[in-house]
Amino acid sequence: MEQELINLQAQAKDQLAAVENGGQLENFRIRFLGRKGQFSTIMKGLGKVSKEDKPRLGQMANSIKKEIEALYDEKQQTLSTSIGASSADEGTIDLTLPGRKPQTGKLHPVTQIMNEVCSIFESLGFSVAEGPDVEHDHYNFEALNIPAHHPARDMHDTFYVSDSILLRTHTSPMQARIMETQQPPLRVIAPGKVYRCDSDITHTPMFHQVEGFLVDRDVSFADLKGVLTIFTQKMFDKELELRFRPSFFPFTEPSAEVDIACVMCGGSGCRVCKRTGWLEILGAGMIDPEVFKMVGYNPEVYSGFAFGLGIERIAMLKYGIDDIRLYYENDLRFLSQF
Ligand SMILES: [Zn+2]
Repeated sequence: MEQELINLQAQAKDQLAAVENGGQLENFRIRFLGRKGQFSTIMKGLGKVSKEDKPRLGQMANSIKKEIEALYDEKQQTLSTSIGASSADEGTIDLTLPGRKPQTGKLHPVTQIMNEVCSIFESLGFSVAEGPDVEHDHYNFEALNIPAHHPARDMHDTFYVSDSILLRTHTSPMQARIMETQQPPLRVIAPGKVYRCDSDITHTPMFHQVEGFLVDRDVSFADLKGVLTIFTQKMFDKELELRFRPSFFPFTEPSAEVDIACVMCGGSGCRVCKRTGWLEILGAGMIDPEVFKMVGYNPEVYSGFAFGLGIERIAMLKYGIDDIRLYYENDLRFLSQF
């Protein structure tokens, strides 16, 4: 028994010294230190030795086992410092496999369209101005010729913060803010978020608008039509017929809803344009002389036009999407397509 232990000690030390990788080390552990390993087998034999020898042999077996375990731990540490190499040896890492691509973020489709709209107008000489989302009633309504109790306020489904403070319902307040502090000629677009208490397949409580306006001497409706024609051509990459339908906005006179020939069917009628061949894309008009008077411009000298378009609407038409809510569900399967 004693000799057996001494032999096993020498054998274990030799074999451990020869271990070169994690696989071999594991084999060693099973063979010597495992539940059915050689040490366990010898320890079982202790039951058969005489009473006198038992304590001495037991102690000896234990101290040899401890020594081998310590050497085993040491070996494990040495090997783990070169884990790449040992893993490769074992075949757990296949170095010939292609690497995993890191996922890169992209701009949200609404942001992409917003940037595109801005860059088209910038190429036409417009500058970009941004204003506050939380706005005074004065700039959102009063300065745009929409006094208290005006029926047009009903169309806006406004979120009020207090009696005189609200979340802007359009980006048009920037028109008043800029004209108040600057003199014509002006060519400005104001992109940003707007808020309305409304939610269905084509409306979300928060959406994006771009307001644009141009003020100078002798600006006519033809200039408005020219600018919007260039814009729609660049936006949709093709020549699209425009149609102006008479409409009403308190801050423009005359006012118009502007349609483009359907980008899906080219005007022959389809599901997207509801068989009409036309798609409404924005509202526009000549700035009302009353608005000029409020900011101190002389309406006899200056004229101008203004327009407002919904970014989500443009994005829906450009990408052929029929539910606006998809943009805000944060579903990567949807968003990663753009
Ligand atoms: Zn169509």
